[in-house]
Amino acid sequence: MPVTTSPLPSLDALLRMPTAETLIVRFGRTATAAALRAELGARRSVRAFPAAASEILDAAADALARRFARTQRPVFNLTGTVLHTNLGRAPLPGAAAEAAAEAMSSATTLEFDLATGQRGERDEHVARLLRDITGAEAATVVNNNAAAVLLILNTIALGREVPVSRGELIEIGGAFRIPDIMARAGAVLREVGTTNRTHARDFGDAIGPQTALLMRVHQANFAIQGFVAAVPATELAEMAHAAGLPLVEDLGSGSLVDLGAWGLPHERTPQDSLQAGADLVSFSGDKLLGGPQAGLVVGRADLITQLNRNPLKRALRLDKGRLAALERVLLLYLSPERLAEQLPTLRLLSRSAEEIRQTAVRLAAVCRARWPARPIAVEPCRSQIGSGSLPVDLLPSFAVTVGGGGLERLAGWLRALERPVIGRIGEGRLWLDCRCLEAADEDLLIAQLGGSADK
Ligand SMILES: *Cc1c(COP(=O)(O)O)cnc(C)c1O
Repeated sequence: MPVTTSPLPSLDALLRMPTAETLIVRFGRTATAAALRAELGARRSVRAFPAAASEILDAAADALARRFARTQRPVFNLTGTVLHTNLGRAPLPGAAAEAAAEAMSSATTLEFDLATGQRGERDEHVARLLRDITGAEAATVVNNNAAAVLLILNTIALGREVPVSRGELIEIGGAFRIPDIMARAGAVLREVGTTNRTHARDFGDAIGPQTALLMRVHQANFAIQGFVAAVPATELAEMAHAAGLPLVEDLGSGSLVDLGAWGLPHERTPQDSLQAGADLVSFSGDKLLGGPQAGLVVGRADLITQLNRNPLKRALRLDKGRLAALERVLLLYLSPERLAEQLPTLRLLSRSAEEIRQTAVRLAAVCRARWPARPIAVEPCRSQIGSGSLPVDLLPSFAVTVGGGGLERLAGWLRALERPVIGRIGEGRLWLDCRCLEAADEDLLIAQLGGSADK
């Protein structure tokens, strides 16, 4: 690279250099010229010249690489929380991701009935499966569960009262709070009972001419223990129906199958809620269900029709990509005996501790080679389900632990890898919980640890 003798090279001269040619091929002329102009401007303003053309080109190349880098990237989730909201919750089955990509890059039957050649119903692709799986009369689907709750309240309770137990006025991460969503939906929250105890008579006292519905909210991410009482769903449903009101249940995670069959703690299912008498049940698509972000509502056909007629429904609807992914995931539920194999969320949650330990042993060997001076061990730990499931340590797992000094720096180095590795620091070591490290990814992680420069 020739070194310029003039204080600063001209933009034109820079653009003619071979390095600039490569940048133009990669990033286009407009962006390359803008980056070079910015570098020239920066040097001019601090009178940092003379400057070699190569130095300016290198700085522009770095700036372009940063500007064009994708900021949402795949990572290795070794946090021990399977459904990690900050890391995108449920990983989709490959088939569902393919279905989404295919739908998004082509014309589809989104709202087109092939049999008649007439207009079709966009939600029917998943509504038919939700009816099939849950036995509900009808189903609809929106952007997420927060949207589902908003739509239900705005449709049925606009300007009217909704009694909710004080023990269920929950906050979910990301600022979903029952009182706030209620207010935004235009419904009037009527708090009943106390934080730890709510009785049927509390609801009885609250029901009046202004009441629109009774609501139950799943205590998703916390538990109250001790002197507690809540009104069972069946009893609340009877009270609602006696007053001519619907019972709505916000289930949160809402697994479509009994997780007990895989040795996991039973999570209330939409089927449980419907059987108890709930008229509408809402739950998330990307929590235990293992699908894309979505809010699913199942229940009484007349109420679902009302939801679909609310103009807000249009604002909250799903795009064809997510509908395709959700349809593909729901199809897996038609063969429940294969679910643990085909649905990554269930596969990860039901992985045996022994299998995880073997993964940890292999990873530990690579870590020892990489950081010979650090204490490295395979230690038992507990993974969490995450995403609004009880935050108690439930799932026996194994982690590679890395000790020694500068753990924050080490964690930062792991986050800076081509495919960042996210662990957690605790008890004076870095924990890499291997539950979510499956065979397909293991080689990539090991190659990254073996192949990159030492810190
Ligand atoms: C997670 C959760 C929500 C919010 O669902 P999103 O799909 O994240 O919008 C609402 N209510 C309960 C009880 C939840 O657990």
